This record gives sequence, C-alpha cells and structure tokens, in this order.
Amino acid sequence: MSDEKTTGAAPAAPPKKLPPYKLTSRMTHPEDSLVNLGNFVIGGPEFVVMAGPCSVEHDPQMLGTAWDVKISGAHIIRGGAFKPRSSPYSFQGLAEEGLKMLSKARELTGLSIVTEVMDSLDIDLVESYADILQVGARNSQNFSLLKRLSKCRKPVLLKRGLMNTVEEFLCSAEYLLAGGNENVILCERGIRTFETSTRNTLDLSSVLAIKERTHLPVIVDPSHASGKARYVAPLSRAALAVGADGLMIEVHCSPETALCDGEESLTPEVFRDLMLNLRDLAPHFGRKISTLNGAAEHPKTVSGS
Ligand code: PEP
Ligand code: MN
Repeated sequence: MSDEKTTGAAPAAPPKKLPPYKLTSRMTHPEDSLVNLGNFVIGGPEFVVMAGPCSVEHDPQMLGTAWDVKISGAHIIRGGAFKPRSSPYSFQGLAEEGLKMLSKARELTGLSIVTEVMDSLDIDLVESYADILQVGARNSQNFSLLKRLSKCRKPVLLKRGLMNTVEEFLCSAEYLLAGGNENVILCERGIRTFETSTRNTLDLSSVLAIKERTHLPVIVDPSHASGKARYVAPLSRAALAVGADGLMIEVHCSPETALCDGEESLTPEVFRDLMLNLRDLAPHFGRKISTLNGAAEHPKTVSGS
C-alpha cells in the first residue's frame, strides 16, 4: 500500500511546468520586483508617472515642459532623441544634441530621464545620459538589441510590441533578465487590432494577465495607445484602477506646434489637473503619489513664465 492510502493525503500535484519566460515568471520569483531609481521605486506603493514630449525639440521646449511636469508631480521626464518614425521624411530626433537637452532638464529639475534607444550602436551613448533606457514597441522583439541591453547597468523600460501576445512580451523581457539585467519595467501601450477609432487598442486586461504571470512592474502609456489627448485622463484613471504601477504620458508645452504626436499630447494645464485627480484617487487603489523633487502640493503651471 502506498503512503497516500495509509495517510489519506491528497496525491501530490504534478510539478507545474515553467513557461518559456523562466526568470520573468512569478513561479521562480513570487514577490513583486522593485526598480529603484534612487529617490523613488517603481513597483511599490508609489504610482510613478513619466511625462514629457514625444520628441526632444529644443531647449525652451524641453526645459519648459520638464518644469511643468515636475511641478505637477511627475517622477521622470520623457522625450525621444532617437525617434522610430514610420516615414523616413518625418523628424527623426536630435540624437546626442537631444540627450544633452534632456540632461540639462535633469540638472535643473532633478527629474530622472527615460529615453529610447533604437540601435545597439547607440546603447553606450544613450546609457551615458539616460536613467532608464526605453525599448520602443517596434523594437520589442529586436532580440539582438535586447541581448545587448541585458548587459547594461541601467534599468530598461520595455514596451509591448504592436502585434505581441502577453507571452511574447514576457519572452522579450526574458532576454533582458537572462542576460543579467533584472531592472526591467514593462509598458502596455496598446496593440494593433481591426479597430480604427483609436491609434491602437489599449489592452488594459493585459495588466492583470502580466501581474499574474510576472513579478516585474508594469506601467501604461495611454497616449500612444489612444492617439487622442482627450482620452488620456480617463484611460490613466482606468490604468490606476486596474493595478498598473504607473503611467507614461506625453505632455508638450505647445501641442499644436509639436514636431511629433501633438494630437495625443496633453497641455501642462491638463496634465496638472490629471495629476491632482490621480493623487486623490490613488489611495482608493492602495497607491500614493508623493510630492517628490520639490513637486508642489497644488501645482501651478509655469510654461511661458
Ligand atoms: C515613444 O514612447 O516615444 C514611442 C515611440 O512609443 P511606442 O514605441 O510605444 O510607439
Ligand atoms: Mn510619441
């Protein structure tokens, strides 16, 4: 007779098979991972907001927007110096000149920088300026880029590819972890579907699926997901409610003259109101938005002043 019968114990469950994203899986790392940026942490109670223009354009634009988003309580300034544009004739970004402008904005405001790296050849350059290296949706399955980024010491913000399932997304993250970079933040930014009323289809349920499957923090980008500035605030509230760890939002001091994605960019005033609203709502969802880096309790917009 087996022990099972004599003790009445339930038969042992067969061992669960690890998914193809092993280190990324909650099965190998049940606790939430935290990405530490020095004066704040992504993946904990703080609801972290990254905000700024689609592209770095010039000093007054970058510095003005950086001050605006800082005063409203953003944690991180965003802005692309290397832009993945569909047309080769569209503005491609200012490259190192743009990185220098971001760096100046960090010096003046104390905000950390997230910016995209598109090419393996630019990793050292971007890493020398950025606090977080962004992998855009179009490069989400550029495995040689991911392998090289796995050797970086800076955190990586990995966006979900336009056509990627959650499993494929997590396999992309696995390239970073497998190569030794554990500081990975995932970003749901909408996927391409048959729907044309928005730029992409924001898959908010992916936040739930990702949280169930992995320990990595996940943020939502409602700007690229919707392509419409007026949808950004409601989708941001929904992202908070569904359990995202933060947001990436496009904000421009003059959206109508933006060189890229002006139609989805918030004005500093609308961003300020959204931040006040999110700060009130966050405790209802077990989160908080601290007043960091000298961010005002009741911010006033400074653009143009
Ligand atoms: C961006 O954040 O600047 C960007 C290009 O977004 P995505 O890669 O999600 O399209
Ligand atoms: Mn953009």
